[in-house]
Amino acid sequence: MYYDHLIKNGTLITPNDTFNADIYIKNGKIAAITNERLEGDAKEVTDASDKLVLPGFIDSHVHSRDGYNGAHYKEDFFHSSMAGAAGGITTILEMPNSNPAVYSADTLNMLVECITPKAHTDFGIWGLCLGDLNIDQLIPLKEAGVVGFKFFWGYAVDSDSYQLIYNYTEGMENVIPPPDQGEVYRIFRQVAKTGRILAIHAENFEIIKALTHEVKKSGDSGYRAMLRSRPPVTETTIIETAILIAKELGTRLHILHLAAGDGVDLIKAAQNAGLPVTGETCPHYLAFTDKDADRLGSLIKGYPPVRTQADQNRLWAGLNDGTLSSVCSDHAPHSYEEKQKCLWEAPAGTASIETMAPVLIDAVSKGKLTYNKLSEVMSANPAKLFGLYPRKGSLNIGSDADMVIIDPSAKYTFDQANMHSRIKLSPYHGMTFSGRIVQTVLRGMTVAKDGRLVSGPAGRFIRPD
Ligand SMILES: [Zn+2]
Repeated sequence: MYYDHLIKNGTLITPNDTFNADIYIKNGKIAAITNERLEGDAKEVTDASDKLVLPGFIDSHVHSRDGYNGAHYKEDFFHSSMAGAAGGITTILEMPNSNPAVYSADTLNMLVECITPKAHTDFGIWGLCLGDLNIDQLIPLKEAGVVGFKFFWGYAVDSDSYQLIYNYTEGMENVIPPPDQGEVYRIFRQVAKTGRILAIHAENFEIIKALTHEVKKSGDSGYRAMLRSRPPVTETTIIETAILIAKELGTRLHILHLAAGDGVDLIKAAQNAGLPVTGETCPHYLAFTDKDADRLGSLIKGYPPVRTQADQNRLWAGLNDGTLSSVCSDHAPHSYEEKQKCLWEAPAGTASIETMAPVLIDAVSKGKLTYNKLSEVMSANPAKLFGLYPRKGSLNIGSDADMVIIDPSAKYTFDQANMHSRIKLSPYHGMTFSGRIVQTVLRGMTVAKDGRLVSGPAGRFIRPD
């Protein structure tokens, strides 16, 4: 056997091209892309006639709840990466609010050791910015291989465990309050020295606190009351401040999970001024609006919140005109009990790694984007942003042979009972999707077929460059 895998007769999709060719894979890499039949047999042959072949998807924003003290009752890397593989994802970039959190080179190495045996996809890891608490750890974290740094703007942390505190109020014990803007400035300055991206959770904690108090006092409940406590200005005030500081210090700034249409304009203006500012959005902001909240309630609760149709339209426009670089899941599962609480009490976040690509593939069938654009925002762009290109996110000779094969004519109804996440709860339950992922290939190995895993964990830790 000369080749490990031959994927023949497929239609290859890259950001700029659509063409028919066969892909020959050897030692986990793409060895040839050609229309000629090459000498030598292949161990595995996949006939991709009438199918589309795209570079494997990269999910750059995942909370798998893992680590030695992780919240395993919500999720773990075994399940999240399995769900990812079933959903066409071959690389996960794991967020650093694991337990222990990734705030130093040591804790990074601990997480790598903990999740490598459970990894069904390749993975990179984010480093956490805790302000002055770990500012001296940012360069060691870069050297240890983080893909970028995450800063939860406005969040307090537990003084012993460095776990994030949600719903922080002044006077809480054993809590380090959110960094003030002097400390934020120092974070931006230090991350600039690493050359890596600084990604921010952009929500204005002070405005949210004031409005939440007012809305709760009014006695209003329900999704629209919650939206009134987190209007678009809570995103844009932070985005604008961040852009100004990044401009001053030369920091590469990335706006996470954008929900507000106004945010697209701020990012676009910064890009037009030549600043290295990028942004991402998530499938729930592209698929749902406040109107769906009556039906789905806390299932679509996230921070920032799913907003109006007008916001959604501007996110789609920003994605299609290139202002937004990428789509990622912000996979953040919670238990059934947690999600059954009332809207104010239920934690934000939902299991979405497995449905992200299906939602976007379905959106192609509705004319919201093209397959080429899908390939750009889910493969090429995230790989480029995080220093993984062209090893990941591309169909080039010598690239890792990560691929997703799609049957564009298939139609199916999504049933949450078939999810691979630990908690089988999804706002997409019962929805009909057009186009279906039929095979996921990681470094030449078929890891998932027709929505089922066909191999054990073989994922590896990957570092930028
Ligand atoms: Zn997140």
